[in-house]
Amino acid sequence: MGAKLSFRLLSGNLDGIDGRIVEVEVDLIPALSSFVISGLAGQGIRESRERIRSALENSGYRYPDRHRIVINLAPATLQKDGAVFDLPIALSILAESGQVPKEPFKNWAALGELALDGRLRKVPGSLGIVSALRRVKHESVLVPAENRSDARQVGGIRAEGACDLREAIAVIVEGGAGTGFDPPEMDTVAGQKLAPDLSDVRGHAVARRALEIAAAGEHPMLMVGPPGSGKSYLASRLASLLPPLTGQERLEVTQIHDVCGLHRESGPVRQRPFRSPHHSVTWAGLIGGGSPPVPGEVTLAHRGVLFLDEFPEISRRSLEALREPLEMGEVTLSRSRFARTYPAHFLLIAAMNPCPCGGSGRLRRSATGGMRCRCSTATLAAYRARVSGPLLDRFDIRITMETISGASLFEEDGPDQESSSDVSVRVELARERAFLRGQQGSNRQLQWKDRQRWAPLGSRAKKFLIECGEQGDLSTRGLTRLLRLGRTIADLRAGNRIEEVDMIEALSLRGPGWS
Ligand SMILES: [Zn+2]
Repeated sequence: MGAKLSFRLLSGNLDGIDGRIVEVEVDLIPALSSFVISGLAGQGIRESRERIRSALENSGYRYPDRHRIVINLAPATLQKDGAVFDLPIALSILAESGQVPKEPFKNWAALGELALDGRLRKVPGSLGIVSALRRVKHESVLVPAENRSDARQVGGIRAEGACDLREAIAVIVEGGAGTGFDPPEMDTVAGQKLAPDLSDVRGHAVARRALEIAAAGEHPMLMVGPPGSGKSYLASRLASLLPPLTGQERLEVTQIHDVCGLHRESGPVRQRPFRSPHHSVTWAGLIGGGSPPVPGEVTLAHRGVLFLDEFPEISRRSLEALREPLEMGEVTLSRSRFARTYPAHFLLIAAMNPCPCGGSGRLRRSATGGMRCRCSTATLAAYRARVSGPLLDRFDIRITMETISGASLFEEDGPDQESSSDVSVRVELARERAFLRGQQGSNRQLQWKDRQRWAPLGSRAKKFLIECGEQGDLSTRGLTRLLRLGRTIADLRAGNRIEEVDMIEALSLRGPGWS
């Protein structure tokens, strides 16, 4: 290009949930009026011309007609989209056209969408973008007023907010204070109370115990029971059994909420997510998709719980796609031009009816004379075939829901049930034991080949496992899952060695498996 130095201002864009720094470069060349953007700009950016022109004129500035406005977004390899560059482009045009001095912009970065009247609109993903600017030790960033509280969570970088273009200029050029909306801090205790608690659950001793084990070892869990047997009720309490989010996890979850534009009260997300998409969820809705790709339920459930009710009704393709996030803790969405990776580390809990008619299945006829099964043998077989052996096998824990007896509904008269916080203390201690063994991840990820290190067995436990292998014709994979469960159960009772009693309980959590 020519020798003339163009005006440059830092901004940023999203790549997955992380921010990437983008340099906005603007040149004004006397010529027929035109507006050219280069650097892998998506539709949202290419439509910025009218917003910028209108915002400048409605804020009392001049749009440089009779100029060719050349905008370059670098690096050119990064796909960019959204309206986040409206503000830096508008500011650059003002500086480059001499309407405001250039000098004060030296240490600033800017991001924000412009409304036609010059107001600044909130943009998704500011947390990630400001974090990226902080990583390169950039000094100051100007964001829309509504993004300021997110931007200030990052720390280590001065973040100012502005309501409109005029205020943005005032902050940068005149050193004004700027504005921002800082909603009142949500009371942590009050916030915690919103999550359903395990103490509300009557009966269900087996399921309660299974939830505790699932939470401790991150074991995927499947509940089989007729409608109304309390599957959703129990599943919605699983997130409350997990230890509190660590600082890093909180940042990750907040960043995802920010990118997806999910409503939240204020400040960082404090509770582990609980997502329960309807069984009609599309593949893209579950895994993520679109162009540019947006996160799906597996990412929204990151560091929390993904509950899939009516499991066999979900499309086979969607279910198969769960394999990657379950194994890798992340999901990569590829489009023709680019790929994006989103975090997707979640605890999976699923539920299904014993049969499609909503009855209680042939084998488990309701004792109380409730809904009887009307399914034919063929219907039943087809239903069960939808949840294939390998898919079913992915659930470390598979339990059949107990039918709640009339008496247990009145257990309020008895001693109080344990609360979620009681159980989560044990869960945290069990996880700590795994950490002290030097494990990188949870017990769910333990490998058979390393079992000498993580699974010292008592002699009777070893005999039990060998018998399981011989009688139940369990594959190595099946035995591994059994051993992982035994490991978690031993951790929950603070045992170093896995004993026979742990293995017996582990085996009891492995049915029913039709394959
Ligand atoms: Zn039926």
